[in-house]
Amino acid sequence: MDLQSEVSNQSNAPHAYRRGVDRDCFGGFDPTAPVRVTTKNTVALVTRVADRTTFDVSEWLPTLNMGELHTLRPEIRSAGVRKEYPFICAACGEPVVLKAYTDYGHYFSHLEKHRAEQAGCPFRESRDLSQEDLDRIRYHGQREGARHVRTKVLIERTLRADPRFDAPKIETTWRSFLEGWRRPDVSSKWDGLPVVFEAQVSNTYPQIVAERTEFYRRDGALLVWIFDRRPDETWRTLHADAFCANQQHLFVVDEESAAESERQGIAFVRSYSLRPDVRPVKSDNSHRTLLEMAQSESFELVPFNELKLDVERQTACRFDVKLEERRSRHKVLCAAAQANSQMTPLKEDLMDIRNSRRPVDEKALCAWAALVCAIESARLGCAVGTGLANAAGVLNLVYDHYPSVVGLLVGQLSQLNLDTEEIQRGAWGKRSAMVRSGSYEGKPLPEQHLASRMMLAWLYD
Ligand SMILES: [Zn+2]
Repeated sequence: MDLQSEVSNQSNAPHAYRRGVDRDCFGGFDPTAPVRVTTKNTVALVTRVADRTTFDVSEWLPTLNMGELHTLRPEIRSAGVRKEYPFICAACGEPVVLKAYTDYGHYFSHLEKHRAEQAGCPFRESRDLSQEDLDRIRYHGQREGARHVRTKVLIERTLRADPRFDAPKIETTWRSFLEGWRRPDVSSKWDGLPVVFEAQVSNTYPQIVAERTEFYRRDGALLVWIFDRRPDETWRTLHADAFCANQQHLFVVDEESAAESERQGIAFVRSYSLRPDVRPVKSDNSHRTLLEMAQSESFELVPFNELKLDVERQTACRFDVKLEERRSRHKVLCAAAQANSQMTPLKEDLMDIRNSRRPVDEKALCAWAALVCAIESARLGCAVGTGLANAAGVLNLVYDHYPSVVGLLVGQLSQLNLDTEEIQRGAWGKRSAMVRSGSYEGKPLPEQHLASRMMLAWLYD
């Protein structure tokens, strides 16, 4: 007997009579019964990741029977153990699992409710969505399509403007994530390194972001996500993921950045970044200026060639967050040492940075703290580590007490473009000119402290 006839003969088999007739034989469970759904707490639209099909849950579940449903439930759960999620919410892309009420009403629910909250998912508890809302979510992709195409064109214009990029290859059709991923949006080479750009206009599923990143890493290419606008005050999960994975940089292209690239023949992107930094703070008791850790926010045009590209980490960035935090912490300790003579924490940090237990000379340590305070004073426009009136006062303090580093100070200020007219006014102007010419108080400038020179390179280069 072939399979077809076996199936068609099924209605004559004894067990077929049991359906709905003799339910007790199944101990109250009938695998052939249709699935009942509930509208309560329901993620109304779910997407099957394997084929990117989106289902209306209230229509789809009743087409399954209870046997199929109870096969699907453990499948979803065990895939989840492997961090694979066969079904995701069609609105926010977060994984969903099947659940049931005691009356056997079945529904899909976000696996992690707080993530759906963060993503601003419209399918949350006790929210009634109109048909219009549902259609909006379902057809969201079409409107996103126009933004996606526009963003790709802007990326293409940016790359074409800079001869250091190979002629970019553009994926001409737009496809939503539901249609599956075929080729990168825009691909090119920068100085021989394959770089691909993906336009990011909506909440791409985090799992897909992770898959692509891994794919390009293995392929020796760098994936750069490009947004079409700066995220507003409510960051979506996607923004936060992309931002943190890329050393607190997030890139945007717009008409202005593309036009500037064409005008200068240099590829520019707009970069939103949070750089770990320090800021001045008045101490309560001593009235001296101390430093505390801060984040400096910027949203500016950045030439692509200023980004450090790292395939292994899949990052394109101007700074490394951990290193900037380390540097900032060290500056905070320098200010505390100068202001309150708290030398031990600074000494230990210095040995840590140099990875050496070799003791640090006390006098050299004081000179180092004064030097860093002077540079930070010029940078921040206040008298760091002291109760002096202005930044120039801290520079003069180094001149008066620490001739072994005053040449380093003059050099570093000019390297950082901190040699402003404001700073040059008064005694420091004449003094720094003398130091530059190699003299100090009518004698040759003393040999500058070598270890401090090396530490300056670590702190500011
Ligand atoms: Zn959702």
